[in-house]
Amino acid sequence: MQYKMKRSRRQFLKSSIVAATATFSIPSLARNYNYKIFESNINPSSSNKYQKTSKMKLSWTPYNLQLKHTFTISGFSRTTTPVVLTKIEYDGLVGYGEASLPPYLGETQESVISFLKKVDLSGFTNPTQIEEIVNYIDSLAINNTAAKASVDIALHDLAGKIIGSPWYKIHGLNKYDVPDTTFTIGIDTDEVVREKTREVMDSYNILKVKVGGPDDKRMIRAIRSVTNLPLAVDANQGWKDRYEAIEMIHWLKEQGVVMVEQPIPKNDLDNIALLTQESPLPIFADESIQRLEDINRLKGVFSGINIKLMKCTGMHEAWKMRKLAKSLGMKVMMGCMTETSCAISAASQIYAGMDFADLDGALLIANDCFSGAYLQQGKIIASDMPGIGVEPIQELNFK
Ligand code: MG
Repeated sequence: MQYKMKRSRRQFLKSSIVAATATFSIPSLARNYNYKIFESNINPSSSNKYQKTSKMKLSWTPYNLQLKHTFTISGFSRTTTPVVLTKIEYDGLVGYGEASLPPYLGETQESVISFLKKVDLSGFTNPTQIEEIVNYIDSLAINNTAAKASVDIALHDLAGKIIGSPWYKIHGLNKYDVPDTTFTIGIDTDEVVREKTREVMDSYNILKVKVGGPDDKRMIRAIRSVTNLPLAVDANQGWKDRYEAIEMIHWLKEQGVVMVEQPIPKNDLDNIALLTQESPLPIFADESIQRLEDINRLKGVFSGINIKLMKCTGMHEAWKMRKLAKSLGMKVMMGCMTETSCAISAASQIYAGMDFADLDGALLIANDCFSGAYLQQGKIIASDMPGIGVEPIQELNFK
């Protein structure tokens, strides 16, 4: 009897994995690598758990991130970021997710919760059928990308736990083969900038500076007075045109800057294409790109794209974006919002092999409520726990 149950759970899991891997178009996965993961993670004591038809239960809780330092980018400053944390329960397993809601993206805790209330997962009995479920989530409303990401991430966490593997392994990635994460030095007085730089220069291998305003050269010089670390700059569309941008970029290259994000307004694609041709540094799209469908029109316009889970609806689409961009010969970077270690850990599972990373989101907050991916020698390294590899480190009141 027990043997029979075990077999049928195995069959269930095996077919789940085949479904999941067919979705992800990694044909070798089910046949070789992942099947071993599945074989090694059978827990005989729970062998009859998957006999019944289980339902997924989605719940959520709003949470406010306290920033360690006031965050300023061209335009405005803030000291908190609202998020909504999500949880999907299924047969004794729990997947966690997060929607991070910086005000400029237009979603709020209220809009996320009202979106989540529309989600009905009762029609799905197999959480590893990710593509079907995220397609349904995407169809519920336009936009709401962070809300959608919060479900996608929780679903990946849950599915990874069912499969018994962290996602970097499911995708066949080496979790150590990752770019250094940038750490952002906020715009401030020279004295504060120097102090801040000294504080972090031994923990990171590349720093990031928000530019695109009157402080650009002053900020770079202040940092350069204390360190020669490579720098990334993000203009957040702040330079007024391509002439100003190219002049700044030449100067920045002499200062040891290695890449430029979103130099000029996001829709000025003709001028961005010309700028990218002239630029001695790679130019990355951030505000110009949101989802998979945007990538084709950016080929030949930007050198690369910044993929952010909150803008692209989560890990499933981010993985597709990464593959498409690479197939078009574009560079790829993984970015983030101010987020807890939940969403950062999700990103950490899919960014091995990318060109740049900006994953300092959880390092900038004072009240992270998850443990997971960690900083090691300037890189964010995925944890080995299954799913996205996170655990809550405080009680969270999911409803
Ligand atoms: Mg940016």
